Amino acid sequence: MSRALQEELSRFVGMLLAGIVAGALFGQLMAGVLLVLVIYLGWHLYNLNRLVRWLRESKSFQPPEASGIWDEAFEHIYRLQQRNQQRKRNLRGMLKRLHKLTSALPDATVELRPDSEEIEWWNTAAARYLGFEFPRDTGQRISNLIRHPAFLEYLHSQDYSQGVEIPSPVNEGQTLRLRLVSYTGNRRLLVARDMTHIQKLERMRQDFVANVSHELRTPLTVMSGYLEALIDDEPDAQSASPLRSMQQQARRMNRLVEDLMLLARLETDEPGNGSQVVHVPDLIQQVVDQAKTFSGKENHQFDVQIESTLCLLGVESELYSAFSNLVLNAVRYTPKGGEIQIRWARDGETGLFSVTDTGPGIEAIHIPRLTERFYRVDAGRSRERGGTGLGLAIVKHVLLRHQGRLEIESEPGRGSCFSCRFADLQLRSCQSAISS
Ligand code: ADP
Repeated sequence: MSRALQEELSRFVGMLLAGIVAGALFGQLMAGVLLVLVIYLGWHLYNLNRLVRWLRESKSFQPPEASGIWDEAFEHIYRLQQRNQQRKRNLRGMLKRLHKLTSALPDATVELRPDSEEIEWWNTAAARYLGFEFPRDTGQRISNLIRHPAFLEYLHSQDYSQGVEIPSPVNEGQTLRLRLVSYTGNRRLLVARDMTHIQKLERMRQDFVANVSHELRTPLTVMSGYLEALIDDEPDAQSASPLRSMQQQARRMNRLVEDLMLLARLETDEPGNGSQVVHVPDLIQQVVDQAKTFSGKENHQFDVQIESTLCLLGVESELYSAFSNLVLNAVRYTPKGGEIQIRWARDGETGLFSVTDTGPGIEAIHIPRLTERFYRVDAGRSRERGGTGLGLAIVKHVLLRHQGRLEIESEPGRGSCFSCRFADLQLRSCQSAISS
């Protein structure tokens, strides 16, 4: 029991005793007790009323003067209120700092209302990049303010992991990368980053590679021509070997330049340019013929199964590059006499082109990096077999432009399977294809 309560009890008992004694003196014991009880209750009601008034009206938080247990009650409530005030001040300060911080962020940040597309709040960068105006746009649907089809598709996709790049709705020449982030279950935050500078650098890099490759092509062709002529002239034994080696290296450089130029084109050309229904069965047959020539004396066994009515909407030369890179890699890395299976068929809703070999296989740690430019598991073997280190990067880019993706399954000692999976919307019947 607290000290205040003990004192209060003693006060009550004291008053009661005084009432009993006074009542007994006047021969009105009950009246004395009752009088004490009424006074005591009245005092409590009076203090209760002061408490209610203080809590309701008091602007200054100083508690009213009181005695006994009420003094302690007022004091406790006063301290509680002071603590709450302090907490409120801290929270207000934190909110102000948070607001300043998000306003200072270089990325546009837009908060959407729970389970809705309506805009709740945005920072200053959002006003700059997306043209939002306060209070006009508060509560507007984000899809009414950012109407780019790529963004609308992303907004309704439910898969926000990738983000989407669109031109800024207000600043000409500015490209924004938009990404939605879900938080606290039903809320979403839209973050938009200015990509103009990065895009400019990327374009400079692509132009540089394309220009260097293009500039190298002419001197290479001239050198190769002279080398061929020198070799055709049947040189003496001493010069024949270095000349042949030079010719080999010139050819390798030529392949490298061709692949670099193709990659640059795949990166910069508008996807779908020159798209038509490609007769994939004929195309695969050409790739297989090329692979058999490439295999030559190595005598690989080809097992080819092709669904003859299944074709693809796409760019023939690009698909040829992708398929031939996969099949030639199988030949390149599979030892003499090994088996290479080539399949082209529907697989559920998708179309699947796969190349399975009985080669050395690839360790799991290399697989995610194989489509990086010049990434090789065994650089020596790749060069020796005429690889440029760009084949799978080309495959990846071609597939990106054809709504496809590359799947790689491989295990050391058990061979590899490289597959191109094409979305249903790219698949066509071969009746409408122009056979090549
Ligand atoms: P490269 O011209 O070197 O073959 P790619 O980009 O085509 O370049 O392939 C990257 C690397 O992936 C190769 O260097 C090789 O190590 C590995 N690779 C590709 N295909 C196969 C395969 N069928 N079997 C084993 N390794 C492969």
